[in-house]
Order: sequence, then C-alpha cells, then structure tokens
Amino acid sequence: MRKTLVAANWKMHGSKAFAEQLLAELNSGLESGECSAEVVICPPFPYLGVVGVAAENVEQLALGAQNLSEQPAGAFTGEVSADMLLDCGVRYVIVGHSERRSLYGESSELVAAKFAAAKSAGLTPILCVGESLQEREAGKTLDVIAGQIQAVIDLGLAGTWHNAVVAYEPVWAIGTGKTATPEQAQEVHQFIRQQLGDAGAETQILYGGSVKAANAAELFAMDDIDGALVGGASLEANEFIQICRAAD
Ligand code: 13P
Repeated sequence: MRKTLVAANWKMHGSKAFAEQLLAELNSGLESGECSAEVVICPPFPYLGVVGVAAENVEQLALGAQNLSEQPAGAFTGEVSADMLLDCGVRYVIVGHSERRSLYGESSELVAAKFAAAKSAGLTPILCVGESLQEREAGKTLDVIAGQIQAVIDLGLAGTWHNAVVAYEPVWAIGTGKTATPEQAQEVHQFIRQQLGDAGAETQILYGGSVKAANAAELFAMDDIDGALVGGASLEANEFIQICRAAD
C-alpha cells in the first residue's frame, strides 16, 4: 500500500519571515485536521534550517531540497553535496525539475548522476519527468518520459526505485493553470510504473503541474497517482493544507 506524499516546491520564493509564518500555519493546520499524507517541504537552500527547526516536532513533515550536486565534494563553487544536505536534516531532494533541465541545461545523464548521488548518501530523490507541449502535440509524450527514466535505469544501481520517488510534471501544466486531466495523468503514471519494473509497485509516483485544492482529490483518486508535487499553491498555507487533506 503506497502512502500519499505531497511535496511543496517553493522554487525561488520566500524569505526567512515567510518560512517561519508558513510553517507555523502548516503545523497547526496539519495537527488539527485529518491528514494521513506524508508532507515534504522543499524551500530554497538558505531556509532549510528555518524550515527544519519548525518541522522538527511534526511527525508527518519532512525536509526536502530542490537540487544537489552530482559531485561528492571538492572545488565546485556554488554547489551543494548530498552529504551536506543530509547533515542539515534533509531527507528528500528534487532532481531533474523541468526548470533545471530547460533553464540550466541539465541533461538526462546529469540528472541520473544527481539521482545516484542522492541515493548513495541515503537521501530519497524525487525524479521529475515530463514532456513539453510541442512533444505532446507531436504524440511523443511516452517516448520522452521513457527516455528520461531510462537514463536512470541505465546506471544499473542496486534497488534503483527503492526509496525513490518519481514526479510526472508535464511542462505545459507547470505554472500555467492548465492541469492535466486525471485521465491524462493516469495514463502516463501507469506507463511510468510499468517501466519501473517489479519495484515500481511500491514507488510513489506524484503528479505536478497546477495542482490546487480544487483539483487534488480527483487526481489522487486515480490508481497510479500517489500524491503531488506542488509549486505555486504550496506558498499559501490554507490552499496547501487542503491539498494535503485531499488524500483522506
Ligand atoms: P505549479 O504547481 O506552480 O504549476 O508548479 C509545479 C511544479 O513545478 C512543482 O515542481
């Protein structure tokens, strides 16, 4: 039985005061209401400490990062290693977000190396995959997803999908207000699960792209959708709490 996981990707938003305020609201909101989901908060690097402290005593809250280096240590100015994240109480890390792929030129091979770095340190990677609008319209959605996942499979890591999460985020649905329909998302999630092989039955596969309180429940009701990776709506406490509760 896969537990629902709801992850907040704050992207490059917020401040120290914002993080403290939002976490205070989340803590009371999650405590006072029914919420069986696991919740991961991925703030920008400088606020990991603030969020970590605020989340410390709330069992269902875990800390996540938005990126990491594929290198273990060394002269890599501006980079952050998997061990450093672990040292700061981080348990999850997003790899291969479409913004990293498109704006920072991260290839599927680099994303796979980051996935491996996270796993070997004991972090749970959240591997993002997804097609652009152009690729969808050209009928290439499943080919694109398959290629992005295959780059990780090609590493041949033992237990690749154990303690790993996949997030399907169609690029055309990110920050656009256009959500994939539950059926569109389910088709891709089912395809991904097949590609993961035997271990895929236990792997949480999240949907991301304009998830909000109004559409979360219908997405979570699909067989292969195990939660959400939330951008914009994770910056509003009430909206995000309602998404977390939509799993119940
Ligand atoms: P939005 O929820 O703002 O569409 O962003 C989705 C996303 O990119 C989460 O990683």
